[in-house]
Amino acid sequence: MSLSQQQDRQHCFHPFSNYHQLNRDGARVIVKGEGIYVYDEQGNKILDAMAGLWCVNLGYSAKPLIEAAQKQFNTLPYYNLFFQTTHSPAAKLAAKLAEITPAKLNHVFFTGSGSECNDTVLRTVRHYWACLGQPQKQIVISRDNAYHGSTMAGASLGGMKPMHAQGGLPIPGIVHIPQPYHFGEGQGVDVEMFGQQRAQLLEQKILELGVENVAAFIAEPIQGAGGVIIPPDSYWPEIQRICDHYGILLIVDEVICGFGRTGEWFASQTYAITPDLMCLAKGITSGYLPLGAVMVSDRIAQVLQEHDDEFTHGFTYSGHPVACAVALATIEEMEKNHLVEKVRNDIAPYLAQKWLALAEHPLVGEARIKGMMAAIELVENKATLKRYNKTKAAGTLCRNICVSNGLIMRAVGDTMIIAPPLIISKAEVDELIQLAWQCLDQTYAQLTSRTNI
Ligand code: PMP
Repeated sequence: MSLSQQQDRQHCFHPFSNYHQLNRDGARVIVKGEGIYVYDEQGNKILDAMAGLWCVNLGYSAKPLIEAAQKQFNTLPYYNLFFQTTHSPAAKLAAKLAEITPAKLNHVFFTGSGSECNDTVLRTVRHYWACLGQPQKQIVISRDNAYHGSTMAGASLGGMKPMHAQGGLPIPGIVHIPQPYHFGEGQGVDVEMFGQQRAQLLEQKILELGVENVAAFIAEPIQGAGGVIIPPDSYWPEIQRICDHYGILLIVDEVICGFGRTGEWFASQTYAITPDLMCLAKGITSGYLPLGAVMVSDRIAQVLQEHDDEFTHGFTYSGHPVACAVALATIEEMEKNHLVEKVRNDIAPYLAQKWLALAEHPLVGEARIKGMMAAIELVENKATLKRYNKTKAAGTLCRNICVSNGLIMRAVGDTMIIAPPLIISKAEVDELIQLAWQCLDQTYAQLTSRTNI
């Protein structure tokens, strides 16, 4: 066991980990990143088809980002935005974000992470309605199996039952409706009809709660951590109609989907959504430094600006100058290289063509993809789409086989997902797909030999 592994085992608690297992098995030590690959202590080269945690959109060796950080460190390594103070990286990034996000989003509240964005939106929407003399308009409607972060508000807005089970969540005033997960919950129903039905559950919930009590609806355009759940095309137009009709605020959590992942700058453009609030993080700095941003619409900004009292909310690292400088460099790099257009017109269609062919594998019940985020569903029976018994842990087995073959794919139950760096080349897509086939073969061989015992 290496020194890093020893120190880690003795002292480091990891996010979303089983500490019994972690202590027993120790952790893999990553020492280097280059392009779309990471390298571990043993010198293994691993193709990172998850771009870290859906964030390293420009890969691991984007020099302009590193140079931007160095330059800012040398000028002003830290200052904050409290007490009527600002600095040029934050001001410039705010203006840039207002320019590239959808038209009505012209203000930004900086945070340090996606979770902090969601804490911020919860406080913002409640404050907004209070400013308008409707303080009882508190409830935020979210969805089962959504992921909005790990803070108390983030985990409460999220719809992950195991997270709610620890620590008595959700906090009051947050309710959940079912998700638009056709493969998992809509078999036998026409896809578009299913999308409509699931969206209409929002309307039912608003009526049940009373519109006078509902502040907002929050959703990821495509659920990421829940298993790359791509909604039917009918879903978002109906959600938009309902939010508009009842005048409730629409919050889109684009922490994963933003910055080119769906082939537009933002998934709100992909799905023609007009949000009142938009959460951004991850790809905003290509993951190089922690930064989040809540985009605020003119409708909300106007009310907050007319209200002559303090919004009592903020973080030490809101608008950290080095993180903002790296975000500016990230956006500049993406613009200079026409990365979003390349994703939309070239690399995403190429990946789609190869990825969707995985549906032919005997272990795969469905393959789906939107832009540069994709999933396959592992099934025991391809004809009936019956899943493996949970005790088989097919997804975990597949994930472990992937890593030992030099590929990082993530398992969400028995759904295998990818979200590779946006700079991936066609040759690297070929390699990813070839590794995926190989790993599916090995997983299938192990699962079927176990079945036969
Ligand atoms: N929202 C979404 C949609 C996310 O996927 C995540 C992180 N995976 C978060 C919020 C939380 O972000 P963070 O981990 O930076 O707090």
